[in-house]
Amino acid sequence: MTVALFTLGGTIAMGGVAKGGDGPGGGAVTRLTGAQLTAAVPGLAELGMPLEVQDTQAVPSASLSFAHLLDLVRDASQAVRRGATGVVVTQGTDTLEETAYLVDLVWPHEAPFVLTGAMRNPTLAGPDGPANLLAAARVAASPAARGLGALAVLNDEIHAARWVRKTHSTSTGTFASPALGPIGQVIEGQVRILATPPGHSSPAIPGADRLTAAGLADTRVALYTVTLDDDGALLEGLADTHQGLVVAGFGVGHVSSALAPVFGALAERIPVVLTSRCGAGSVLRQTYGAVGSERDLLRRGLINAGLLDPYKARILLRLLLAAGVDREAITAAFARHG
Ligand code: ASP
Repeated sequence: MTVALFTLGGTIAMGGVAKGGDGPGGGAVTRLTGAQLTAAVPGLAELGMPLEVQDTQAVPSASLSFAHLLDLVRDASQAVRRGATGVVVTQGTDTLEETAYLVDLVWPHEAPFVLTGAMRNPTLAGPDGPANLLAAARVAASPAARGLGALAVLNDEIHAARWVRKTHSTSTGTFASPALGPIGQVIEGQVRILATPPGHSSPAIPGADRLTAAGLADTRVALYTVTLDDDGALLEGLADTHQGLVVAGFGVGHVSSALAPVFGALAERIPVVLTSRCGAGSVLRQTYGAVGSERDLLRRGLINAGLLDPYKARILLRLLLAAGVDREAITAAFARHG
């Protein structure tokens, strides 16, 4: 029995400022290998399971792509088929809430898929990477975490991919699940699951294993956040260049009366998904009736994303479109996942 560890880039893997500047403007970019990362973690040897380390994309998490992640899922799947008990991925924290959800939608195994990272790099006082990596490995090795899909483990908290958000740009307590809180904790090294998200008996995206980089490249999904007194000029021609749109609306899913017909016209050509820009809480369905309200937009053909935040709604919509799913099935998927 092993835990498969895949390392990407990010703060957790930064070894400090390279001499002469290791990037366009200097700064912390140098990458630690998985072997160096694990060597810095006291307690890992007592896990009772060796880590099988594979160094992969050494990129900041902002530069990851859907194709990178699907490759990673395939490699991780192979590791599980070879007998790994669970998977840990280290990566930058900036996109972790998105990558975790993407993995969650396509991960076909009972074995836990755990993502972690760090907010303080190893050259700073009190780096959080080693503790996060140890907690993540404990969760990946734990029978209690089986069947829970993709999990984000940082700060000794276990978050379901479905709910996790990065909520602060620098705090080590940045990861939170505003809708319900963490689903578990690592306490004195023990993995305690306190709430169980809906099961992951099969991947949520049909045919996910057949998604290709080319298919994804042909599937562009825009995310548009409405703001005060916006004339919507950016939306012109969008249906010619994009196959889908996620709207981050005001509050419970509202836009201005001027933009309501613009989104309605777009929804006649491409799927347009309605989310809230608030950061927590659901889009409503049947409360408000003004032009631009949730009732009006849903009547115009927008798809209700429920509790799904804009970033996660974009992941779901892009995967569904890349898998060739029709509008009816997209609406059903959002009803199920939102
Ligand atoms: N910019 C880094 C990244 O996401 C930040 C981090 O690792 O926390 O790659």
